[in-house]
Amino acid sequence: QIVLGLETSCDETAAAVVRLGADGHVEVLSSTVASQIAAHAPYGGVVPEIAARAHVESIDAIAGEALKTAGLGYGDLTGVAATAGPGLVGGVMVGLSFGKAVALARGLPLIAVNHLEGHAVSARLGADIPYPFLLLLVSGGHCQLLSVDGVGACRRLGTTIDDAAGEAFDKIAKTLGLPYPGGPALEALAEGGQPERFPLPRMLLGRKDCDFSFSGLKTAAARLAEGLTSDVDRRDLAASVQTAIAGQLCERSDRAMAAYAIEHEGRGLRFVVAGGVAANRTVRARLEATAKGRGFSFTAPPLAYCTDNAAMIALAGAERLALGQADPLDAPARPRWPLDEAAALANPTHQ
Ligand code: ATP
Ligand code: MG
Ligand code: FE
Repeated sequence: QIVLGLETSCDETAAAVVRLGADGHVEVLSSTVASQIAAHAPYGGVVPEIAARAHVESIDAIAGEALKTAGLGYGDLTGVAATAGPGLVGGVMVGLSFGKAVALARGLPLIAVNHLEGHAVSARLGADIPYPFLLLLVSGGHCQLLSVDGVGACRRLGTTIDDAAGEAFDKIAKTLGLPYPGGPALEALAEGGQPERFPLPRMLLGRKDCDFSFSGLKTAAARLAEGLTSDVDRRDLAASVQTAIAGQLCERSDRAMAAYAIEHEGRGLRFVVAGGVAANRTVRARLEATAKGRGFSFTAPPLAYCTDNAAMIALAGAERLALGQADPLDAPARPRWPLDEAAALANPTHQ
């Protein structure tokens, strides 16, 4: 399969071409990402209307650039995969409509990809990770532990009861006076800081499920931020926050690993982290140690594929295409679309 992927669900316009061999070998032929960070930065967050307009302006050029870099034309493709949700619906419609137009004009199959399924396969862009695996999905809008049993087959073991981890990074960064997007800025500020300096609440510690909560941490950090007077204080608080978030991700993942190991009788134990927060070096290192401690292998995506990109969408589409799956040209854009549809419907606290 040679699939063109399109990603427009938030504030990056992205296109990529990925080849999936019959033997399962994955090759990223190109991955182009046009970030809108500069357009949204003055507002301290993503403005949906600005995002949708920017996607319209750049999608054609970005898709063309992805093909050019791959050295291919539309005629060389075997399919088109576009994010169909969840996300900002104005943006999703841009990429999905573009994908439909290409599919119609070229007689190609369309795959309407769940953005979260893209994140779920993103680590497979850099390493050969067979199914099943245990996934920690930590992005701007989601914080979930999932058992990924096969292509499109996810079971959710836990989710956040309030904010996502990336959202917590972003909001706390804001109270520290850092620019949007806050996660990378907070990581940079935390460099060399004292992570044990400020005591922060350890939410849900020891609770018998695999859920997450960051609201208490956010409130405590905001209160501490008010009293800070020096750059050293701010640096130490950033380090303390980063360590607290990493600590909760590890504690909850450790619990999920214990249950997963029993279910799989200790065989084929693989732990994967994905999503924007997986780009954080402290989070990666702490999770790796946790996984090793439970006898799990550990894989994180290459840094470029942690945050939003189209290579992960192309791969998710290619995997479905390889199984003979495709979607009709009237596939809807879905602002909300839980990854594990059935389980989420049974659980009203899903996000
Ligand atoms: P979702 O995938 O849930 O719809 P999203 O697409 O906006 O949300 P991603 O692009 O996967 O999310 O990730 C963006 C998030 O990752 C932001 O919250 C950002 O602050 C966070 N992030 C990115 N890099 C880092 C980092 N180095 N440290 C901490 N957080 C980070
Ligand atoms: Mg983004
Ligand atoms: Fe994302």
